[in-house]
Amino acid sequence: MTGSAIELQVDGTAVAVPGGASLLVAVRAAGIELPALCSDDRLSPAGSCRTCLVRADGQIAAACVTPATSGVRVDTATDDLWQLRREAVTVIVSALPPRALADDSPSELAQVCRTLGIGSEVAQVAGGRGGDVSHPYVHLDRDLCIACGRCVRMCAEVQGTFALTLVGRGSGTVVAPGTGGPWAESDCVACGGCVDTCPTGAITQPGPGSGLTSAHRPAAATRTTCGYCGVGCTLDVATRDGEVTAVLPARDGPVNQGHACVKGRFAHGYLTSPERLTRPLLRRDGRLEPVGWDEALDRVARGMGEATAVGGADAVAAISSARATNEENYLVQKFMRVVIGTNNVDNCSRLCHSPSAAGLTASFGLPCGTDSFDDVERSDCLLVVGANPVEAHPVVGARLLRRVLHGAKLVVADPRAVGLAQHADVHLRPRPGTNAALFHGLAHILLTHGLTDEKFLRERATGLPELTELLDDYPPDRVADITGVPAADLVAAARLYGRAEQPAIVYGLGVTEHLHGTDGVRTLANLAILRGAVGTDRGYGVNPLRGQNNVQGASDMGALPDCLPGYGKVTDPAVRARAEAVWGVPVPERPGLRIPEMFAAARAGRLRALWVIGEDVCATDPDTNRVAEALDACPLVVCNELFLSETARHADVVLPATSWLEKDGTFVNFDRRFQRVRSAVPPPGEARSDFDAVHAVAAAMGVSLGCPTPADALAECGRIAPVFAGLSHDRLDREGAVPWPCPDPRRPGAVRLYENRFATPDGRAHLAVVPYLPPGEHPDDAYPLVLVTGRRWAHYNSGSMTRRSGNLALDPVDFLDLHPEDAIRYDVRDGAQVDVESRHGTARLIARISEQTVPGQVFCSFHFPASGVNRLTSDHADTVTSCPEYKVTAVRLTPR
Ligand code: SF4
Repeated sequence: MTGSAIELQVDGTAVAVPGGASLLVAVRAAGIELPALCSDDRLSPAGSCRTCLVRADGQIAAACVTPATSGVRVDTATDDLWQLRREAVTVIVSALPPRALADDSPSELAQVCRTLGIGSEVAQVAGGRGGDVSHPYVHLDRDLCIACGRCVRMCAEVQGTFALTLVGRGSGTVVAPGTGGPWAESDCVACGGCVDTCPTGAITQPGPGSGLTSAHRPAAATRTTCGYCGVGCTLDVATRDGEVTAVLPARDGPVNQGHACVKGRFAHGYLTSPERLTRPLLRRDGRLEPVGWDEALDRVARGMGEATAVGGADAVAAISSARATNEENYLVQKFMRVVIGTNNVDNCSRLCHSPSAAGLTASFGLPCGTDSFDDVERSDCLLVVGANPVEAHPVVGARLLRRVLHGAKLVVADPRAVGLAQHADVHLRPRPGTNAALFHGLAHILLTHGLTDEKFLRERATGLPELTELLDDYPPDRVADITGVPAADLVAAARLYGRAEQPAIVYGLGVTEHLHGTDGVRTLANLAILRGAVGTDRGYGVNPLRGQNNVQGASDMGALPDCLPGYGKVTDPAVRARAEAVWGVPVPERPGLRIPEMFAAARAGRLRALWVIGEDVCATDPDTNRVAEALDACPLVVCNELFLSETARHADVVLPATSWLEKDGTFVNFDRRFQRVRSAVPPPGEARSDFDAVHAVAAAMGVSLGCPTPADALAECGRIAPVFAGLSHDRLDREGAVPWPCPDPRRPGAVRLYENRFATPDGRAHLAVVPYLPPGEHPDDAYPLVLVTGRRWAHYNSGSMTRRSGNLALDPVDFLDLHPEDAIRYDVRDGAQVDVESRHGTARLIARISEQTVPGQVFCSFHFPASGVNRLTSDHADTVTSCPEYKVTAVRLTPR
């Protein structure tokens, strides 16, 4: 809807609606309920069911497809209209069996019939068209389908998958997967959109949540934020008897807008898995045995005391978690600094987006994305780099695709043919590890084609002369040689980005997880600076997609070895003084160990106690054989976990933890929004939140950490970090989502950054003048292929939660994707087991022959630790931040 407000009368009441709104919107704005069985305000109108009939200036019209016009008089409540609507619904219902209107049916159709006085005697068709229950999450009852097409439009317009169609004729028309076979074998990605919009119960989720939709949020639902990826979808969790019955996407969710994906929507079966840890475990005689909390806490406290007695405070370290809440991360770093007296605390952003933090800080001043996703979505040219949002951030992927289908240009830069690539105007496929050369090549073309913003560069940026000189070495032909991207494609992509009115950059781990990942981020940011497309109204900046739910927040809260909450450096006396004033103890000034340094210190005997909170480092960190060696060498390893993970198997004490559906606090999503997390169900057995566990360990060591509740912890954090001073649980409860920086409780948080000045010391954006440097791993005769790892749509990280849900049926094994030419060259059959060997280890995977990868490259996920994928990856790491080079590993294949 666009344009200025339109004023009209509905049943004598004056209402105003935005230009482009329909009469149905106007009727609802007047507070009048009208049946509209083929309508969903997330979809384009269809006008097919004729149940929303009104009279507009005397003419009968379907309200959903009739535009509101100024001064029109709308009548909805006359007897004849009521009768017409009743007849339209009666015709629809007469083609259904009586169970469509069962007394307890929560469906929209049943409710409409109740308001129109239509009883189940109208529905007398015997049915018998059967159903499709092949899918774990989406069941179809063909007899209840009224062919309104809402599911088909939801799949096409909101999800962008186009998996559904209507088949048959007349009253025999029914929804079906477009591929023709069973639903489970279709292109459906189980976002649940069809389930959520179906007005009759023809498409439902099986089980106790059957029939629930976001339009009729159950009274007992708990509003929370998804704990899977960093998109931060707002979800309403329906429960019964302490168990989750359905997870419904909130229509007013600021990021998801009534949408979700297979993980947030359905993958909650792990909550009640018999494998959940419900009691602490303690290692005795080499075996982990269940014990009470007191005994476990005593062991942890004694072990940490012994470690500090022998090796000093720096002999203890903690790995905090991007899965945990902000408040838990705040408490972990406070524990390490206040109770132990060390800065040895890090979080798993080290392994994914630490180069984003370093690179974006160097370019613009703050370690986060520059713009809100709502703004990015307005862009007329999207440059999506090293990201596969359709699978890894599905709700963002769907929104980006929607924008492209509505006309935005799209440049995808990714070695693989990821989901968005098939819709791209230009798909650049650089060799893994050559990003900086690619970005320099694009920058060279922007400069030489006069596509830069000279005024912006003069007034708001530094480094142009030096960069111009460097870029002389990156003409398209040379960049084509380095990257493998044809020069013509480079020129086409640069022209699209350079000529757009408001271009936006979105990127992922394909930029960061490299030997020179920070250089990759900075040279990518150069493009936005050259275009003046950051901190202005001429573009929407540079925006990292975050993999885990709270990657941004874990770092924001100071779970970093060199930063206190809010990113003040521990080496800065003024920053330390602010924390010391709140905590009442001195803060150590020497930066602590990063995660890889913790493992090295453990192997060297210098680290004597390691607390791993909610991370399966033995599955997700690179070169996992060496990680396991480190854990085995460390005298005390404590692990907070939901399940007996690979890491927990190496621990001395395992503390049973709660999941995101069982705890209270906040997360920060990828576009800097703080959002509330609320407990929907009680934890199993004796499991405790990480917040409670950290308090308990501190108490066992004789120290009170203060801030007894998560709300207190966030408030205390705001006293140390001015950028969070305006945030509180009360405010988030009132307002929903608030972005940071937010220094003032009376003012909104900053949606767009740097409108007046950049946050660098000189207030300017800094162009990065760094040469392209090659990756750490190279293919050779012995290891001729390059392995790239990443995520797949149905699973998440090490898969500990999604593999214990119905998602396992959707994606049951770890595949190795390889190109048909490589399959022939290495004698690998589709579906065959194959040993994948690198210079560091071996993994076993199932081959899947596909043209998603180019010859010479293979791809796999790391969702199935048993496959051992991260035994393959090297310990090469970003030279600035120590982020592993996950995206480039030389391997060879041996068919079995
Ligand atoms: Fe959760 Fe991400 Fe899926 Fe949204 S897109 S439901 S945040 S996993």
